[in-house]
Parts: sequence; C-alpha cells; structure tokens
Amino acid sequence: MLEVRGVHTFYGQIEALKGIDVTVNEGEIVTLIGSNGAGKTTLLMTICGSPRAAKGTITFEGRDITRMPTHHLVGTGIAQSPEGRRIFPRMTVYENLQMGALRTDPKYFKQDLDMVYSLFPRLQERQEQRGGTLSGGEQQMLAIGRALMSRPRLLLLDEPSLGLAPMVVRQIFDVIKEINRRDKMTVFLVEQNAFHALKLAHRAYVMVNGVITLQGSGQELLANPEIRAAYLEGG
Ligand code: ATP
Repeated sequence: MLEVRGVHTFYGQIEALKGIDVTVNEGEIVTLIGSNGAGKTTLLMTICGSPRAAKGTITFEGRDITRMPTHHLVGTGIAQSPEGRRIFPRMTVYENLQMGALRTDPKYFKQDLDMVYSLFPRLQERQEQRGGTLSGGEQQMLAIGRALMSRPRLLLLDEPSLGLAPMVVRQIFDVIKEINRRDKMTVFLVEQNAFHALKLAHRAYVMVNGVITLQGSGQELLANPEIRAAYLEGG
C-alpha cells in the first residue's frame, strides 16, 4: 500500500534519512521505532511531502506521491496525526473534528462523528470544550479523531504516547488496535515507546541515525536481545 524506496532527506547539509526502504501492506499496523533524533518524524514528514525526498520514491496504492504537495495528500487517502498533536486550541472539540472532515463528502459527517465518539467517548462529553483546555491524552484522542474524520485508508501516527501517563497510553493503543481490527485501517506508527509499539504492531522497523538497521515482526523484535538492551530495558 505504501512503498518507500531509497529515500534520502536533507536539512541543509545534514542528511537526516540515508536511503530508507519501508513497506506498509494493506491492513497492517507497522511501527517504526528508534531513539530521539533517529529520523522517525522526518520520515513521516517526507511521506507527507515536507521536507521533500532529495532521492528515492514514495508510492501510495501504486501512485507516485514523492513530489505531491502536502495539501493534496488528504484527498489521496492518507491522514496524519502529527507529533505534538497540533490540534486547534481555540476551537471546540466538535469544530476540530469538523476541520478533519473539510474535504470529505458531508453525507458521511454524522456517521464518522459517531464513529469517533464511539472510539473516544471522552470527546463526546467534551465536544463543546475548547481544544486547548483538554488534557494531553484528550488532545491526542482529538488529533487521532480529527485524522479519522478524513476517512483515510492509511493513518500515520507520530508518537501518540508522547508525554502521556501509562494508563492513557494503553487506552490510545487499544483504540489504534480497534481501528485496525474493526475498520481494517492500515496504520504506520512512529514511536519511542518501543514496548507498546512492538506489542501492537504486525511488523516493525528500527531506525538508527537515518538508517533502517533491523526489521521483523513485532514479536520477533520484542524478543530480540539487541532491541531489548537498547530500547526495552531501562532504555
Ligand atoms: P524525535 O523522536 O525526537 O522526534 P526523530 O527520530 O523523529 O526524533 P527527527 O525529528 O526526524 O528524529 O530528526 C532527525 C534528525 O534531523 C535529527 O538529527 C534532528 O536534529 C534533525 N532535524 C530535524 N528537524 C530539523 C530541521 N527542521 N532542521 C534541521 N535539522 C533537523
């Protein structure tokens, strides 16, 4: 479904991605783990077209999106929930969700809103509240909910667990699993929280300094001694 082939991305002289190959098949949850600064966010941003890949190709459902402007991406079936959540703080929860649905046929709005509220009942309770007044976990739910309102076939999630309490992290990951299982949503998840991400993922990639160093099933990587030492045991 998503094919990243030989992608290099630069920030000025700095090569943040050094020839990345990643595949996400339809129906999968694939995770990319790696420490701070490895280039995980850069890969998601490159998939979304900003910064652009200097070399390599990115295709989605067979269509080359390497040079597609970011704002065209929504129409293609990809939605992103960015790192740091970036919801609209002055808008209500409901208005934030409306923003997510801007480019979808209005006939789906009610049904999609009900779907998001069924996944995150807390959002329904708080629908008249401004986004900026929500807790961190609720803002993360809103960011995911807003992405879902665009009816994506591929959901890109950047560090949904960042800064959240363990119980909230579990809730968010349970919902990701549910969206994948129930709605057959394909998910590409970037995470520093390797343990939860690997438990959830069908397949996983490990990134170190802009290079993919390991890949395998979530279970394989969870059992891998190198991964355990680097990311799971006190890491
Ligand atoms: P984190 O989990 O902290 O977001 P990451 O794995 O997502 O880490 P990136 O944010 O993709 O890593 O950063 C990869 C490298 O690119 C880092 O060395 C970072 O300092 C550098 N970098 C990121 N954004 C920029 C930028 N806008 N300009 C210059 N360098 C950048």
